Amino acid sequence: LRRRIIRAEKMEVVGHLAASISHEVRNPLTVSRGFMQLLLQSERMNYKDKQYIQIAIEEIDRAEAIITDYLTFAKPAPEHVEKLNVKTEIERVIDILRPLANMNSIEIQASLLPFAVKGERPKFQQCLLNVMKNAIEAMPHGGILRINVSIDKDYVLIHIGDTGIGMTKEQIERLGEPYFTTKGTKGTGLGMMVVYRIVETMKGDLFIHSEVGHGTDVYMYFPSYYKSDIEKSSKRHQFEQVSY
Ligand code: ADP
Ligand code: MG
Repeated sequence: LRRRIIRAEKMEVVGHLAASISHEVRNPLTVSRGFMQLLLQSERMNYKDKQYIQIAIEEIDRAEAIITDYLTFAKPAPEHVEKLNVKTEIERVIDILRPLANMNSIEIQASLLPFAVKGERPKFQQCLLNVMKNAIEAMPHGGILRINVSIDKDYVLIHIGDTGIGMTKEQIERLGEPYFTTKGTKGTGLGMMVVYRIVETMKGDLFIHSEVGHGTDVYMYFPSYYKSDIEKSSKRHQFEQVSY
């Protein structure tokens, strides 16, 4: 099943929200969480009070997750459209996600090529992060995260595949719907909405192939910065398989 799922109505919502949330919110959250963690260890505190603190910590984690899905790369300064090297940008996101991948015993296999696309760097990175983070979260007991870059006609194709839990048809259809999550309080249901929004802004396209119990493949197409990449690609770039 390969299903086209970009829908205009899913993308109206995000808009300017991200820009209006301060980048600085994260620091006070981290500090508050630290103090609550300390309180949890206190011997003077009774069980009930500790339960309240536990709830407060979970709520802070939730706020943190929302910021992650929106604002990991957000800059206070205005962003501008530029030429982006997909290999460099993917590598940056892999570096950020490596600790999470290690925690889940996930191997990352990347075949990256330095094709160019046009976009705002922080948004493009956010988009890659949200898709790769979902892939990792779909493999709580380990697996393989595959990232491949290739050229398809005038488009740079980024394929992100996991060997995780997969999705049902219904789940695929609801993907990108605000607040649609199967992760309970740990999920925001905002990650894919942001992804669709960014892919649309970059005049790209997104396809999903998923099988329950087998895994998910996300195919993201972005217009190539140079159409000439297509002719040159086969000669200029050596295919490389890199394990991270
Ligand atoms: P969140 O990750 O906070 O739940 P997202 O918008 O990122 O929100 O994803 C929405 C839902 O789509 C997830 O809760 C999950 O059910 C499903 N999903 C997304 N990516 C994958 C994947 N790679 N494998 C399995 N399910 C996925
Ligand atoms: Mg997510």
